Amino acid sequence: MIYDLIIIGGGPAGLTAALYGARAGLTTLVLEKKPINGGQITSTSVVENWPGTKSISGMDLANSMAEHVLSLGVEIKNMYEVQEVKLEGKIKKIKTNYGEFESKTVIIATGCSEKKIGVKGEEELKGQGVSYCSICDAPFTKGKTVAVIGGGNSALEEAEYLSTFASKVYLIHRREEFRADKVVIDKVKSNKKIEFLLNKTVSEIIGKNKVEKIRIKDTKSEKESELKIDFVFVFIGMDPNTELFKEVKKDQNNYILADKECSINLKGVFVAGDVRSGAIKQVVVASSDGATAALSVRNFIKH
Ligand code: NAP
Repeated sequence: MIYDLIIIGGGPAGLTAALYGARAGLTTLVLEKKPINGGQITSTSVVENWPGTKSISGMDLANSMAEHVLSLGVEIKNMYEVQEVKLEGKIKKIKTNYGEFESKTVIIATGCSEKKIGVKGEEELKGQGVSYCSICDAPFTKGKTVAVIGGGNSALEEAEYLSTFASKVYLIHRREEFRADKVVIDKVKSNKKIEFLLNKTVSEIIGKNKVEKIRIKDTKSEKESELKIDFVFVFIGMDPNTELFKEVKKDQNNYILADKECSINLKGVFVAGDVRSGAIKQVVVASSDGATAALSVRNFIKH
């Protein structure tokens, strides 16, 4: 079968594109490499800026989006990892670990992956105290001491969430200014369980089979010190998942370039969400992109 639309990625951008695709009467397939849908929002403890919903867990929001899409007859294939794409011809070919699929159009909604700090001990102790997902690992931090690295919304929001489990949270940031929203900074600053360690970077994560301590460097004095902790959570931003798309035009940071219709340099191929160059990384923006891209697909197929 040749689909009208294949969407690569089942996060908010991909699921919203599927919703609009299905409502436009397009045969639509979503390929999602993970067993669950929702992408990054599934590892977000609480979403408080989805209009109409004051507060919802990322997992609940993702599930309700997926249920909505499935109710419209869209096929979502989980655990299907795209390995190779041929996007230049009229019929696009998508090779996955479970076989090849064909489609008239493709929406790339592959999102981003967590950046690593790249210090000794990070890779070795991943899953043994080093984490990139507080929703996954917060329950293990009950009564423990935790370090959170980063100064953006993710780091501060997740530090706040982790403080509901851990006995102590150190927020380690390399500067004094934060990228996080003021409302988030104020909330974290008033939390007595969270201590700020500013102008500091982590130069090593130390431990035998589990995190025991970290080496911290003061960026001003260059002085090094050690801090006993049980967990390190890294929230220092994202890298786009674009390695598969060799023939696609990207910016200097490897995000995919698109016009306001979410069209890219290849005919019949569109991009939506965090992976698009210039996209503001918010769920509502990813969803908005998904709608734009799917409506562009509808116009493309019509003409
Ligand atoms: P971000 O806003 O890019 O912040 C990354 C933070 O990590 C920055 O403070 C940065 O420091 C620091 N950092 C980067 N590389 C580092 C390194 N090698 N070592 C130490 N620190 C490093 O990333 P994010 O917090 O993941 O957020 C990504 C996007 O999603 C943002 O647009 C954010 O607003 C959005 N988001 C929104 C919400 C929400 O609205 N509720 C929640 C989560 C995320 P510098 O500041 O010094 O560069």
